[in-house]
Amino acid sequence: MYISELFEKKKAVLSFEIFPPKLTSPIESIYETIEQLSLLAPDFISITYSAGGSGNSRTAELCKLVKEKYKIEPLAHLTCVNSCKKDIINEIEKLKNYGIKNILALRGDKNPQFNCSDFKYSSDLINFIMNNGNFNVSAACYPEGHIESVNLDDDIKNLKYKVDCGAKHLITQLFFDNEDYFNFKEKTDKAGIIVPIETGIMPLVKKQQVERMITLTGVKIPAKLSRILAKFSDDPKSLMEAGIAYATDQIIDLLSSGVRGIHLYVMNNPYVANKIYGNIKEILKGINA
Ligand SMILES: Cc1cc2nc3c(=O)[nH]c(=O)nc-3n(C[C@H](O)[C@H](O)[C@H](O)COP(=O)(O)OP(=O)(O)OC[C@H]3O[C@@H](n4cnc5c(N)ncnc54)[C@H](O)[C@@H]3O)c2cc1C
Repeated sequence: MYISELFEKKKAVLSFEIFPPKLTSPIESIYETIEQLSLLAPDFISITYSAGGSGNSRTAELCKLVKEKYKIEPLAHLTCVNSCKKDIINEIEKLKNYGIKNILALRGDKNPQFNCSDFKYSSDLINFIMNNGNFNVSAACYPEGHIESVNLDDDIKNLKYKVDCGAKHLITQLFFDNEDYFNFKEKTDKAGIIVPIETGIMPLVKKQQVERMITLTGVKIPAKLSRILAKFSDDPKSLMEAGIAYATDQIIDLLSSGVRGIHLYVMNNPYVANKIYGNIKEILKGINA
């Protein structure tokens, strides 16, 4: 099924994002995680792509598994910035052969190790995919603005272009202050972006996650979350439960405001997904009744 059809059927969608194991680990090491997540019957599972131009990713293979064994719709991430056209064609052909219908088209982070530069922006990839198959294309968006963008308005102008190129669904980068999302949504509405926007929520449940996330994305940590991190950073069990409670609170507020979907960055942790799902499942049922 195309992901855009899901949004026609449901008022609020729930999806999970997972990442493939490193190439040095057996692919089977993620099977148990997928099995556990499948029991929560998400509307789709997205699988990150990290080949960084090498064309060597397990994304397509895991999408096939999710689709065939668990009968859950997969969304294959695909990055382009370090890739030549032939790498992208290979990946697209693999996805076609596996019957995968949905691609999250991304630029990826620039890596000077790879000198192929057939694509500059995700919009180049969106155009390329639209001309090379019948995929439903999704794209990323940034409630606080992308870390390299001049300002939020400029970023939203570029986002509108991605949608005009063919993106039919957007997933936000993680954020911790819902007001940033509400402000962003007001601006995207004004810009005429009418495709469904799913909010990406990452429960901060591990100390090591925090610095990495801030460096990579530049997202703000609100005072309320800072206090949680300061108090529990050396108490893993409490941090886990407090991070889950914070994310739950964020999600309930977002669902109350009428968001079209929650995309949980579950970090391959079924315990976290299970707890959050338990907290919101009746609310989701009520919204979709
Ligand atoms: C939901 C989600 C999933 C992700 N999954 C992955 C993954 O699996 N693998 C991975 O490596 N990374 C992933 N990322 C990270 C992503 O690759 C980075 O955030 C990257 O820096 C930008 O990707 P993008 O597709 O948004 O880029 P783009 O849309 O190309 O935007 C990048 C920057 O260029 C600007 N821009 C865009 N188009 C134009 C234009 N036409 N003219 C001028 N400026 C323009 C934008 O404003 C922005 O500042 C993910 C991010 C999100 C939010």
